[in-house]
Amino acid sequence: MIGIDLGGSNLRAARIDESAMTGHREPVGEPRDPPRIVEKVARVVESLAQGEGGPVGVGIAAMLSDRRGTVANSPHLRWRDVPFGELLAARLGPRYQLGVYNDVNAIIWGEAQQGAARGCTSVLGVYVGTGIGGGVIANGQLVTGTSNCAGEIGHTKVRWDRDAAPCQCGQRGCIEAYVGGSYLLARIERETGRGACSDQIVTPDDVDRAAAAGDPWALGLWQELAPLLSVTLGNAVAVLNPERLVLGGGVLARCPLLVRLVTEHMAETTNGPSWGPLSVVLAELGDDAGLVGAAHLAASGTDLITRPIPSSGPEP
Ligand SMILES: [Zn+2]
Repeated sequence: MIGIDLGGSNLRAARIDESAMTGHREPVGEPRDPPRIVEKVARVVESLAQGEGGPVGVGIAAMLSDRRGTVANSPHLRWRDVPFGELLAARLGPRYQLGVYNDVNAIIWGEAQQGAARGCTSVLGVYVGTGIGGGVIANGQLVTGTSNCAGEIGHTKVRWDRDAAPCQCGQRGCIEAYVGGSYLLARIERETGRGACSDQIVTPDDVDRAAAAGDPWALGLWQELAPLLSVTLGNAVAVLNPERLVLGGGVLARCPLLVRLVTEHMAETTNGPSWGPLSVVLAELGDDAGLVGAAHLAASGTDLITRPIPSSGPEP
């Protein structure tokens, strides 16, 4: 099986066999018009498949409007209403069983197959990077929702008053507008300019190190934000009752103190029956999670765009 991760910067791909993974990585590059990207992905697939065909899963950094890989919107690729799945399926032909998935859904599925949630059937994955993404597996199934928006935990609200922070989604008070990496960076820059924090503190990792060393401003920021993230996660845990909460993304991966404060706050505030069986873990697969998950989704037959050719039927 072949997994592809089509992100805003890089196209990563791998052929995953029982014992080995053959990888490939190249920049997405410019221009980003759909025909060029479709051709680029198809060539990578063909070179990895070496004429064998089989399942191909693509995880794409995009909001999908259906289960046939139609991109409603992808700020990363600057696409709107692009029938990416149909175009790629037509280009690859029936030898490949193609599925196209939202990248965060693919990532959490990957962690459940080969990573931090291996063997778990109820999983919540939350990724705090530039923004905040989430994915849900319930009773062994990937939950996509009525309009493919399930798991959008970044846009759940933690404030609703007039001063609530504006979010790029157009609403206010979303957790992403407080803890998402780009908002955190902007806040650090603002407070450095105001003299509130040391100009040595530039990134969320710096805040984490400074807080761990006892810097009052940094510790204060983490003590303000950790409960907001904890309550967001705890509310989702109350609804979903997962056995594993997988935390990942650039901010959480590099901020161990923030993760500890969030987990401690969750332990105090999450209801016992849902907290008891839950383990909170860091993501394990890193940049490979999306392509691993996409490959497994396609191999399991989830939302395939092309159907396998019946083995007894004639070749086209
Ligand atoms: Zn939002």
